[in-house]
Amino acid sequence: MADGGPPTPGAADPIVIDTMTGGLTGVTAGYLLPAPRPALVECGPALTIDATIAALRGLGMDPDDLAWLVVTHVHLDHAGGAGDLLAAFPRATVVVSPRGARHLVDPDRLNDSARRVYGPLFDTVYGPCTPIAADRVLAADDGHVLDLGAGRRLEILDTPGHAKHHIAAFDPDLGAVFTGDSVGVRLEGMRALRPATPPADFNLGTMLDSLARYRERDPAHLYLAHYGEVGAPDAVLAEADDGVRRWVAAVEEARRTVPAHEDELDHVADLLRHRFAEDLDLAPDAAEDAEARIALLNDPRSNAAGILRYLDRRDAGTLTPLG
Ligand SMILES: [Zn+2]
Repeated sequence: MADGGPPTPGAADPIVIDTMTGGLTGVTAGYLLPAPRPALVECGPALTIDATIAALRGLGMDPDDLAWLVVTHVHLDHAGGAGDLLAAFPRATVVVSPRGARHLVDPDRLNDSARRVYGPLFDTVYGPCTPIAADRVLAADDGHVLDLGAGRRLEILDTPGHAKHHIAAFDPDLGAVFTGDSVGVRLEGMRALRPATPPADFNLGTMLDSLARYRERDPAHLYLAHYGEVGAPDAVLAEADDGVRRWVAAVEEARRTVPAHEDELDHVADLLRHRFAEDLDLAPDAAEDAEARIALLNDPRSNAAGILRYLDRRDAGTLTPLG
């Protein structure tokens, strides 16, 4: 089905599974789509995969019951536990972008680069990916339709921008898009959506194209990985478009004013933190926990580094169409 169209009455809503990323609630959501051949979208990191497995078991799912695990991209907070989840559900197939598939089969490079990017958090929050047999990995092209049984389908959309290997899942019966990180991040305690623009391959142009593709579907529901369903899809998609443009513009401005003695990334990250501080609306009693969640996921330093790298490659003429 190419268009969102009206939702089909009777299709079961997704069930939110808290993956307990970093031992915190409300950081990374998985979504279980109940159907004869159920699909889970996102599984969370390896270190806390037992929480995801226990939640599925608690919903009455036996080891043979899960058919599909869709990972929107191979960053460890989304896909790190995929190998361990597939060991617990031996009939499941993992669905991933063709550009991410090899990293799940042979995760050494992914683990090495994550260790560099995350530092000590690699061992305390994420943990290493375990390899997945190639015949259990489905590299899904744009438009690929997964059969969930009883007429229920899930369509894969190629939606680069956050990463060049980012995909989203569209449920035509519900008119629902599972957006991964492509629309941004809004955790409890955040007043506004924040773009997620990390290194190494954030690309403004492809991110805006991906947002336009969602608008074409006229979705009735948007489900963010971080965290949960957000209301008013039209307004959220407009906010995402505007927000990422503003963050990139802010970095362009900031990098023109780096004082000689200061590190470019330090300077730009401080400026972003200051400029977008009003996005956070933390209740005093919840502040500590909420701050920990946001820092884990959407530190302005990571956004600054991704945008700087994008601008450098754009200016050098080395951007490729996919990032
Ligand atoms: Zn990501």
